[in-house]
Amino acid sequence: MTNDPLRWVRQDIRDIVPYQAKVYPEGVKVDANENPFPWPQRYVERLQQELAFYPFTRYPDGEAKELRQALSEYTGRNAAEILVSNGSDEAIQLVLLTFGGPGLATVVSNPTFVMYSMATRYMGGNVIDVPLNEEGNTFRLDVQGLLAAAAREEARVIIICNPNNPTGNCFAEEDILAVVRGTDKIVIVDEAYYEFAGKSLMGRLDEFPNMVIMRTFSKAFGLAGLRVGYTVASAEIINEIHKVRQPFNVNAFSQRAATIAIEERTAFEAQVKEVLAERETLCAELGRFAWQVFATDANYIFLRLPGSTKEEQVRRAAEIHQGLMDRGVLVRKLGGGPGLDGTLRVTVGRPEENRKLLAALGDLA
Ligand code: PMP
Repeated sequence: MTNDPLRWVRQDIRDIVPYQAKVYPEGVKVDANENPFPWPQRYVERLQQELAFYPFTRYPDGEAKELRQALSEYTGRNAAEILVSNGSDEAIQLVLLTFGGPGLATVVSNPTFVMYSMATRYMGGNVIDVPLNEEGNTFRLDVQGLLAAAAREEARVIIICNPNNPTGNCFAEEDILAVVRGTDKIVIVDEAYYEFAGKSLMGRLDEFPNMVIMRTFSKAFGLAGLRVGYTVASAEIINEIHKVRQPFNVNAFSQRAATIAIEERTAFEAQVKEVLAERETLCAELGRFAWQVFATDANYIFLRLPGSTKEEQVRRAAEIHQGLMDRGVLVRKLGGGPGLDGTLRVTVGRPEENRKLLAALGDLA
């Protein structure tokens, strides 16, 4: 008898190539769209006090009442309409666990955030891709294509990322709403970068019972390492999602840190302003190189390298990515899908980091 327990692993899981997060403690890390600034001083002091006094020896509040109350004030929604999660990565899983599953399908518009497809696949579901339409230096939703896909029997969840990662743009609000209105399936609008874009569909939730909005503390609020996301939808939908989460899915420190981040949000808003000002400078500087700079509403910029063939573009992107790494600058190299060949995504860093990036690019271009 063979003794190979791995043969019992589901074949579709064995086929997955795992995502390898890059750990890059030194140098300029502009690959993951984080807030580049350190925590505001007063925020650090408040968290230090938490460590001294908060009863971390006890299990966290499984209902995250205090954080949900803070989020209720921040979003203008009722606390019963809010679910917090271990990053919005977990929220994506939870919604798909609730509404999707084996044999069911998630509709996505590539290029977009890879986690939607990954989570769908490891849950035994299928991905229906309705590619974005590239128009000049931006991307547009294929509304008719999305509605046709949503109408398929197996389709359960449609995911729209707004602003879209990695392309950076917000979609036209009327296009998103045309999708939400044109289907009774669940439509997730992922607003991970809301604070940078300043645009949200949160105020339209009451009109659309099938709309689910997701956000995160990992970007503008600088808590990527603490893993806090949240999902807002009707209380009925949120109640169903609660059933499939772990009872203590967000740890006590992260709950406190996120609550205090909301209380101290003026300091984070000042950081967002600085990032946006830096983004304008960086876009203008990047425009001097020969590559295509796409429009952005977020804290990152999508670039496509020039070349007369796709192969040449891919080769140039790989060279620049490696050349930047050799100079201590980590950006995200994308690829492996329509629209993504020969592209890079650069997060807006602190002013001195952006200068280093530009200097390194100057060497390489
Ligand atoms: N959605 C989008 C669009 C993202 O870019 C990210 C982070 N890369 C996430 C969700 C996940 O964020 P987190 O799990 O850190 O909350």
